[in-house]
Amino acid sequence: MAAAVIGGGFFGCSLALALRARGERVTLLEREANLMVRASANNQARVHGGYHYPRSILTGLRSRLNYPRFVAEFGGPSSTDSLVLTNQLLEQERHRVGFAFWIWKENCGGWAMHDGVSCTPGDISPQPSSGCLRAGRERLLARVYPRESADARLSYHYDAGTGAFSLQVHGRAGDPPTVVFIPREVTGEVNASGAVDQLVTTNPDGSRLVTDSPTGGAFSITVTPAPLDVIPCV
Ligand SMILES: Cc1cc2nc3c(=O)[nH]c(=O)nc-3n(C[C@H](O)[C@H](O)[C@H](O)COP(=O)(O)OP(=O)(O)OC[C@H]3O[C@@H](n4cnc5c(N)ncnc54)[C@H](O)[C@@H]3O)c2cc1C
Repeated sequence: MAAAVIGGGFFGCSLALALRARGERVTLLEREANLMVRASANNQARVHGGYHYPRSILTGLRSRLNYPRFVAEFGGPSSTDSLVLTNQLLEQERHRVGFAFWIWKENCGGWAMHDGVSCTPGDISPQPSSGCLRAGRERLLARVYPRESADARLSYHYDAGTGAFSLQVHGRAGDPPTVVFIPREVTGEVNASGAVDQLVTTNPDGSRLVTDSPTGGAFSITVTPAPLDVIPCV
């Protein structure tokens, strides 16, 4: 199906991209010479939590309900990582799902993975990136996690503060192995206990892969606490 979207502001561009992602042919019509030059260029870049709208309870409620969805889709500033990103990662463990971390354009406001260069206080326009990972984000996102397992009910927890990891799983002899990924930054010792044969291999980038074949029964895989090898920005 072909679609036409009138207006190349935030909403028109978002709609056109969403339609395009569904495989539709889209024509975006904008009367100005460039996209994103009207209201979308002038706003104050606040992500509203809903409390800003005393005149409209409905607008406030919509803002409140859509805030988590916005953060999940577009990410958030690194200043909220200890709350928003940390809890998002805990939910990921709880529900045994992954998520895509949005690599936002550097804007000197802390939204990106990297530090910006030439940051002027108050200037949130896109800036060239230094290419240097924000240490706090690297610390949170360089996680130990199971890549595959025959046990759909396994449970695990990674502690970004200490680098410790533990996973509990059940397996029958002959089941496919449970595979755990350990990023380069996590340096603790890998151990297994219970009904399992363990193989640990190191990849060229320093990350490790744990391949544990069940021999029948419960087993666990742990990584001991150890300082994380996070390269600080200079
Ligand atoms: C000063 C200010 C501060 C704001 N601060 C915030 C904030 O902090 N947080 C927040 O969430 N929101 C804020 N907003 C609101 C937010 O910016 C708007 O809700 C949002 O940008 C609207 O996006 P839009 O795509 O609907 O409109 P626009 O960005 O205005 O895009 C509409 C586009 O349609 C084009 N167009 C119109 N008619 C035609 C036509 N006939 N043919 C072709 N093209 C046409 C226009 O040229 C324009 O480019 C602020 C708004 C302003 C003005």
